[in-house]
Parts: sequence; structure tokens; C-alpha cells
Amino acid sequence: MTFDGGAMPYLGTPMSKLFLDATQFFTCGKCQRKYRWKAALQRHVKYECGKEAQFFCSVCSYRAKHKSSLLRHMTGRHALRPPFSVY
Ligand SMILES: [Zn+2]
Ligand SMILES: [Zn+2]
Repeated sequence: MTFDGGAMPYLGTPMSKLFLDATQFFTCGKCQRKYRWKAALQRHVKYECGKEAQFFCSVCSYRAKHKSSLLRHMTGRHALRPPFSVY
């Protein structure tokens, strides 16, 4: 789950409040998406930002921009069941 900026759902638990208050976000310089972890931002820049299709079917040459699209493709087209690799 990535944090796309804007309002973050606030769960109201003391633990999440502590966590959020102490958190600094790493912002993508290209699209301004915010990430809690530097590693997540680096992954985003490397694999997501500016990329058209980032998820690839391992069975055929289908590409999807969103993981949910690929999951739907694999379950519908190939009758596969999660979990399976979507990279
Ligand atoms: Zn970006
Ligand atoms: Zn496929």
C-alpha cells in the first residue's frame, strides 16, 4: 500500500497517531507522490514513475498499469488463483 498524498485516513488509535506524527515523508520529485519509506520512493522512481505498464503477465505478453488489472487478467484469462507472481 502506498501513500499518494493528500488526506491519509486517520484511524484514531494512539499508536497510529504516534507513528504519523513522527513520520517524515519522502516525496517523488517528478509526480509529488509521497512515501513513508525511502526504499518505497526508490522503488517507485525505479519501477513506477513515468512508466506506462508496470505489471506483466508471466503467462502471455499482457501488460497492465495497475496490479488489479493484471490480477483480473490472470484470474479471468488464465484461470489462475492468487497468490502468484505478478512481476
Ligand atoms: Zn513519481
Ligand atoms: Zn496473460
